[in-house]
Amino acid sequence: MNRQFSPTRLDVRAFAEDAAQLSGTARVGDFKRLAAEAAGQGNDRPVQWSAQGEMLNPRHVQPQVWVHLRADAVLPMTCQRCLEPVDVALQVDRPFRFVADEETAAAEDDEAEEDLLAISRAFDLLQLIEDELLMEVPVVPRHEVCPAPVQLSAADPDFEEASAPENPFARLKDLRNGRG
Ligand SMILES: [Zn+2]
Repeated sequence: MNRQFSPTRLDVRAFAEDAAQLSGTARVGDFKRLAAEAAGQGNDRPVQWSAQGEMLNPRHVQPQVWVHLRADAVLPMTCQRCLEPVDVALQVDRPFRFVADEETAAAEDDEAEEDLLAISRAFDLLQLIEDELLMEVPVVPRHEVCPAPVQLSAADPDFEEASAPENPFARLKDLRNGRG
């Protein structure tokens, strides 16, 4: 029962049969497409992931092979509102059911609520992790609240006050008081 599993060449059925777990910490730079979303920034940022195998109905003729995937990363991007850097948190927490082949996956895809993948004895879990994280990348990254409000007007209240015309009557009053 203590089989060793490789995240890049995963025997999916055996992983599910053993109800095995895998986890690790990769770097954003390990995922070329993900790193490209951050425009080369943050290659050293961690990508934490874990996978849990599960066999449903193991006594059934065709038991279901499941892998529950979790992954977290924080990607440095540029806010499209204020153009300052923004950390975008990406979170994946999704179960996948593995079926016999691509045709079965395509045929059952419409009816299944879960995501279907073709079973493999050398499945690349890290590629799936990258695919899923990429799907979480926002089309328009931005701060929930931008740190510095965008300047909407050049109006400066101090400038207006200083340039206001002097009130001639106020000046007259000063002169009178000075005399009294
Ligand atoms: Zn912003």
